[in-house]
Amino acid sequence: MNNMQYNSFFLETYGCQMNVYDSELVRSLLIQTGLRETTDWKSADIAFLNTCSIREHAESKVHSRLGNLYAAKRQKPWMLIGVLGCMAQNLKEELLQNKPYVDIILGPDSYRKIPEYLQRHQSQNHIVDTQLSKYEVYEGLFPSREFGTNAWIAISRGCDKFCTFCIVPFTRGRERSRSLESIVKEAKQAVDAGFVEITLLGQNVNSYRSEKVAFPDLLQEVAKVDGIQRIRFTSPHPSDCDDQLIEVIASNPKICNSIHLPLQSGSNRILSRMNRSYSKEEFTRLVEKFRNAMPDIGISTDIIVGFPGETDAEFQETLDVMKTVKFDSAFTFKYSARPGTKASEYTEQLTEAEKGERLERVIQLQKAHTLSQNQKMIGKTVQVLVEKASKKSEFQLMGRTDNNKIVVFDRHHFKSKDMIVLHINDAYGMTLFGDIPEKEKICD
Ligand code: SF4
Repeated sequence: MNNMQYNSFFLETYGCQMNVYDSELVRSLLIQTGLRETTDWKSADIAFLNTCSIREHAESKVHSRLGNLYAAKRQKPWMLIGVLGCMAQNLKEELLQNKPYVDIILGPDSYRKIPEYLQRHQSQNHIVDTQLSKYEVYEGLFPSREFGTNAWIAISRGCDKFCTFCIVPFTRGRERSRSLESIVKEAKQAVDAGFVEITLLGQNVNSYRSEKVAFPDLLQEVAKVDGIQRIRFTSPHPSDCDDQLIEVIASNPKICNSIHLPLQSGSNRILSRMNRSYSKEEFTRLVEKFRNAMPDIGISTDIIVGFPGETDAEFQETLDVMKTVKFDSAFTFKYSARPGTKASEYTEQLTEAEKGERLERVIQLQKAHTLSQNQKMIGKTVQVLVEKASKKSEFQLMGRTDNNKIVVFDRHHFKSKDMIVLHINDAYGMTLFGDIPEKEKICD
């Protein structure tokens, strides 16, 4: 039992996978102080929202949830409401002024002090700590994860790239890497807890560097941990992908043949205005290198349409690069101006209608590419890591191929975390359908 008046906490996460990981750290700290997690915000003594500022839409969802929490707090005034993460960092003044019922505002580098702040809140009205650190990587603090096949492990924090559209360098600070030892220790701990797949995580994961260890060396070291079946990572920056990385992914069977390569735009002028540090030619050459080394590699991307000043012709260049590369999947976005970033000061902002129309064209093109890429898998026999029940039928399961494609198949005797062999016999949208190969069916 903790020595505060609180018994339960509610923790809701918005935004990227790094936030999911941070919430796992926060959960671990709260449980260590004796608190019990609840999924019911109405009954919780403490409600923490771990927030995202990457797009306006993400912020609106948090504002709306804060409205719900305020209504609950009016019924039980002892309730503590906390805003964590990027919005806390970015919008603390606005929150203090317009939402005085928010008790605690903590930036992404301040979570270690949560137990102390919960104590201190007994005697202090508002607690605000958005100090960014050059060193905090939460070394020695292990996350409390939800059960599953995959454990996320943050290997670095912050970003030094300063893409002109992105708020991350301002909300998460300078880039810093964890030690190799603590990452390997966390990977071993995740295996002991029953996870079989590790995804290494960083805002800019492949610029990892700790003493003499670079990202490809780290991948090799994590792969040595007994019990890990697969290793993935996200998100790499195209400019930090070198030949050693390609060679390590291609040669180490535990490292999945799958990569997320954010293109953002296919126009060199827009890429330069985005401060992306590669040209479309360099990007497509990089894709070629990956595919030459691993013909079946799955390549996903991020695309932003309607960046300030993007002309019709420049948008067409993005479509052209998409047609050249044929990504397996893509996260596609309308440009959203983030106050404080350089691009938000650019004058030639496009209208919502223009951005919407471009986004629709990108989505339709990507749908066609996803389907055609998936159809190439038909007839192949692949290894699939079983994850969980399929959404559509209790008689089916879903799993993932090494190149990160979702496969749905009949349950048979399989269970979560089995590594199985399936024959792919159909593809529909984002999903492949598979079955046990004929030869094995006889023995089944
Ligand atoms: S690389 Fe660019 S887009 Fe990615 S987090 Fe850093 S600044 Fe943001």
